[in-house]
Amino acid sequence: MLGNMMSGQLLISGLIEHAEKYHSDAEIVSRTVEGPIHRYTYSEAAKRSRQLANALEKLGLQEGDTVGTLAWNTYRHFELYFGVSGIGCVVNTVNPRLFPEQLTYIINHAENQYLFIDLSFIELVESLESELEGVKGYVILTDKEHMPDTKLNNAMCYEDLISCESDEFTWPEFDENTASSLCYTSGTTGNPKGVLYSHRSTILHAWIVSSGNVAKVSSSTCILPVVPMFHVNAWGIPYAGAMFGAKLVFPGPALDGASVYELIDNEKPDLLMGVPTVWLGLLQHLNETNQTLDCVETALVGGSAAPRAMIQEFEEKHDVFLMHGWGMTEMSPLGTATSRTKEMEDLDIERRYDLQQKQGKAFFGVNMTIADDYGNELPHDGVAFGRLLVKGPTIVERYYKAEESAMDENGWFDTGDVAKIHPEGYMEIVDRSKDVIKSGGEWISSIDLENAAVGHPGVAEACVIGVLHAKWDERPLLLIVKAAGQEPSKEDINTFLEDKVAKWWLPDDIVFVEELPHTATGKLLKTGLRKDFKNHLINK
Ligand code: ADP
Repeated sequence: MLGNMMSGQLLISGLIEHAEKYHSDAEIVSRTVEGPIHRYTYSEAAKRSRQLANALEKLGLQEGDTVGTLAWNTYRHFELYFGVSGIGCVVNTVNPRLFPEQLTYIINHAENQYLFIDLSFIELVESLESELEGVKGYVILTDKEHMPDTKLNNAMCYEDLISCESDEFTWPEFDENTASSLCYTSGTTGNPKGVLYSHRSTILHAWIVSSGNVAKVSSSTCILPVVPMFHVNAWGIPYAGAMFGAKLVFPGPALDGASVYELIDNEKPDLLMGVPTVWLGLLQHLNETNQTLDCVETALVGGSAAPRAMIQEFEEKHDVFLMHGWGMTEMSPLGTATSRTKEMEDLDIERRYDLQQKQGKAFFGVNMTIADDYGNELPHDGVAFGRLLVKGPTIVERYYKAEESAMDENGWFDTGDVAKIHPEGYMEIVDRSKDVIKSGGEWISSIDLENAAVGHPGVAEACVIGVLHAKWDERPLLLIVKAAGQEPSKEDINTFLEDKVAKWWLPDDIVFVEELPHTATGKLLKTGLRKDFKNHLINK
C-alpha cells in the first residue's frame, strides 16, 4: 500500500527560491577574479539566476543540454549552479588544473554547448579551442569594463548577457531524477570518468552534509569553502548554503594562506572546508605572522588523509576542531565524517586525536561494508581490512555514457579504497588499493607511514611507494621533501618512526626530493614515482 502524501519533486531551483523567500538578506561574499571583494544577498543571487535562465533559453539551450564552466568560487559561478540546473540543463564544472588533453576530452565527452569561463582561463581555453567539437560560444565571467580581447569564437560578456534579461522567470517543474550536474574524476589512469548527478541526489547530499552530525549548516553559519566549485561541487556547500540561508564566503582565485586568512579575518567564518594542502598553506602563514583563528570552530578536511600533526596544530594553537570527511566524486562526494561528539570531548586528548584521524562514521543514506577479493564481507572489528564498498541514493550507479553498471552483482560500488571498520562504526582508510604495499603477502599502508613521517619537524611532505624487492616482492620506499631550513638525516627519521609503526613496516630506504608530484585535486601522484623508483632497492 502506498502512502497518501504529496509527491513534490526535489529540485535545485527550489533551493534558491527558498533562500530568496526566507533568507533574502543573508550574504554571499566573493573575492572576484578582477580583484575587489563583491558582496550581495541571496535575494540578488536569486534574481540574477532568473536573468541567467532567461539568457540561457535565448541561447537556445534545452532540457538535457550541457553547459561547461571553468571557474573559481565566486558569485557568478554560484548563479550558474542554479540558472543552468534550474532550467533542466546540466552544469559540467570542469577542473582547469587537469592536463590539456584531459580538458579537451571532458569538454567533448560532456558535449558542452557553451563554456562559461573566468578571465584566468581564457588563454587556456584559446589553446584548446581548435580541438573542441561542439562548443557554440564562450561566455566570459566578467563585466564590460574587464572584457578582454580574445581569439575565442563567439565570445560574450556575462554581465552583458544577463543584464538585458528580465528577472521574472518561472522555474520549470520536472522529475527530480533529471540530471543536474556532471563532474569528472581526475583519472590518474585512463580517461576521466563522468559522474552525472540528479536534482534528487544533489538535494539529499546537501541535506545530509548540512546535518548536525556533519557540517551543522544553519542560517547562523558562515562558511568559507576553499574547496573549489570545480571539485565535486565544492562538496555540496553552494546547495547547502541556499537550503539553510548560511552566509557563504567565496575565495575566488586566491587560495594561498595569506589571502585565505585575510578573508577569515574580515568575514569571520565559523566553518572552513578544504583539502590538506590548503590547510598546510594557511597554518604556515599563521605561524609566520603569529596569528590565530579566533572565529573558526570547525575546519572540514577531505580529499586525502589529514595528518595527526595537522589535527593537533589546529586544536592546540587555534582551538579549531579539524573534522575529517571522506568521500569521492562518485559519492557526491561525502560519505563519512568524524563529527565532534560529546563522547569524543570526554576522551583523553590523544585518544580523541586517534578518533579524529579516522575517516569517521557513515551518514544516514550511505550503506558501507568491507569485503575480501572474493566479495566475502569482513567483520567490522577494527582489525580486518578489505575493499571498501558503498551503496545509497547519493552514489553513482553508472558512469556517464557507460553501458555497463558501476555496481557489482550485489549492488555495491567498490570505492577503490582499502579500509577497516571499527566496532563503534568509525571507518579508517588503510590505503588506496593501488597504493597499498604488498610485502611478502602482508599489507603495509602507505598512508599510515606518510602520516607518521610528516610528524617529524624536519619533514614538509612525505610519500611512500612500494618498490620491487628480491625477497619480499615489494617494500616501502619513503620520499621526503624537507621542511624549510631543516636538514633531517635518514637515521633521524628512521629513529622517529621506530615507535610509531610496526618494525617490519619501516621503509627500506629514504630518498630526499625537491618536490613531489600532485594530481589536479591535490593528491600525491604516485604512478610516475612508482615507475621512476621501481628498481631502486634492486639496484642499490
Ligand atoms: P579525484 O582525485 O578524482 O577528484 P576524488 O576527489 O573523488 O578523486 O578522490 C577520492 C579518493 O580520495 C578516495 O577514494 C580516497 O582514496 C581519497 N580520500 C578522500 N578523502 C579522504 C580522507 N579524508 N582520507 C583519506 N583519503 C581520502
